[in-house]
Amino acid sequence: MGNFGGVWILAEQRNGKIRGVSYELLSWGRDIADKLQAPLVAVVLGSGLKKDAESFIFRGADEVIAVDEPPLAFDAPDAHSAVLEFLVRKHKPEVFIALATTYSRTVMPMLAVKLETGLTADCTSLDVEGGTRLLIQTRPAIGGNVMATIKTPFTKPQMATVRPGARKPPKEDKTRIGKIVFEKVPESLLKSSVKLVGFVKDETSEIPLQEADVVVAGGKGMKNAKSFEMLFEIAELLNGAVGASRQAVDMGWISYAHQIGLSGKTVNPKLYIAAGISGAVQHIAGMSSSRYIVAINKDPDANIFKVADFGITGDLFEILPLLIKALKEEGKKNERI
Ligand SMILES: Cc1cc2nc3c(=O)[nH]c(=O)nc-3n(C[C@H](O)[C@H](O)[C@H](O)COP(=O)(O)OP(=O)(O)OC[C@H]3O[C@@H](n4cnc5c(N)ncnc54)[C@H](O)[C@@H]3O)c2cc1C
Repeated sequence: MGNFGGVWILAEQRNGKIRGVSYELLSWGRDIADKLQAPLVAVVLGSGLKKDAESFIFRGADEVIAVDEPPLAFDAPDAHSAVLEFLVRKHKPEVFIALATTYSRTVMPMLAVKLETGLTADCTSLDVEGGTRLLIQTRPAIGGNVMATIKTPFTKPQMATVRPGARKPPKEDKTRIGKIVFEKVPESLLKSSVKLVGFVKDETSEIPLQEADVVVAGGKGMKNAKSFEMLFEIAELLNGAVGASRQAVDMGWISYAHQIGLSGKTVNPKLYIAAGISGAVQHIAGMSSSRYIVAINKDPDANIFKVADFGITGDLFEILPLLIKALKEEGKKNERI
């Protein structure tokens, strides 16, 4: 327990390119590392990582540990967790955090089991307890009705995954300097029993939901799948992506990939338009950090108005066509300028 030190973040790559969402972890990691007065280390496994390794330093890491091996190009969880176990046992980080993405949600539990330490999945906030150096891991529990605070007092590293989309990545500062280490690991660890048979693209939209500046979301008030076409049209006009409440997904009007909320995705766009969404606590958990929230609902007492910056009380079947018309006219005006 005594010899552990440093804060690690697990970055993700695809085809040798760092996934943009990984940089969000540096915001969480930097805060924790500063509070613990410890170095912040970005760890990344993959192939062809040399060109991007410095980007972690520019965004706040003090050190990068990369394992650059062709067999790691594909995210095989057995090989990745074995390599991470090797690195953790060698360097002994005090805290190790990752994103609650499919990759990290698979690899981190396998790693926690190997290391016999705790892991809190899907945290919405992380902090450090003064005096004890314990990581305060907060996540919704009991259907989102309470926020649980979890600590890992008896084992190290203290491990957690955090929801993507909850923090903005730190700005790049190309004057920052740090250490980049390409580690060699025993070849036996690179072997995997998992074979990549194909890759299916997420067809949510041209712009990934969690990276969109504008999200246009619909709920049960949309009444059917056909009316979601209006939301796709608005999203296209605003260069955004389409989201949905769980009710809309459960009705089969739109796929799960679009679901926003506690059991869906977390987004923090500049503009979030909620049409026919009541504003249940589980939905709000996934969009409340949006910069501007516009709600359209026929019920003036709908909960969504409590978090909205602009509220329109009325029938969405009247309001959305008017919005489409106005956006098209605006677009034409801009074309003429
Ligand atoms: C463990 C758990 C996890 C959950 N995870 C999620 C999650 O990830 N995401 C999520 O969204 N929910 C989640 N839920 C479900 C959540 O509790 C709500 O049931 C859901 O968010 C409600 O969806 P909704 O707002 O579309 O539907 P409703 O609550 O039925 O609201 C529909 C709204 O549409 C309005 N409306 C109807 N017709 C019109 C019209 N013509 N014009 C304008 N407004 C109209 C109504 O006034 C109403 O406010 C979860 C629940 C649990 C228990």
